Amino acid sequence: MRCPFCGNIDTQVKDSRPAEDHVAIRRRRFCPACGGRFTTYERVQLRDLVVIKSNGRREDFDRDKLERSVRIALQKRPVDPERIDQMVSGIVRRLESMGETDIPSKTIGEIVMEALARIDTVAYVRFASVYKNFQAADDFDKFVSELRPSAPAEE
Ligand SMILES: [Zn+2]
Repeated sequence: MRCPFCGNIDTQVKDSRPAEDHVAIRRRRFCPACGGRFTTYERVQLRDLVVIKSNGRREDFDRDKLERSVRIALQKRPVDPERIDQMVSGIVRRLESMGETDIPSKTIGEIVMEALARIDTVAYVRFASVYKNFQAADDFDKFVSELRPSAPAEE
């Protein structure tokens, strides 16, 4: 695994442990070249998913992007970060088990809304209000950028 700080390829694993209720393995890594420390997660990938945007473009599914949008919706909400990880993993497992490799971005949005509705109403409303506009918009990138908090950063 390449060091994200200095680019050295020869990094060491210092510690491995289960995370997210054994859905992932969390590894603490150390770079002997620059002393940098970083964390990687290993997860089962049942299949390579492709997102079909409403304009027909295809894009590799990006778990991090999905997670970002969920975290933005949940910003400053009293939800345990571990719970958010589990929710995102659950969403990804649902997508992977749908039996299709190609998944419309609309379907992803709907599954995210369902999941959010179960854990936090405010986050659900935030996400859903952006999602409504999003249906007329073109892609998930735009969706995520519209999810940026509209409230001032300081509360
Ligand atoms: Zn390094």
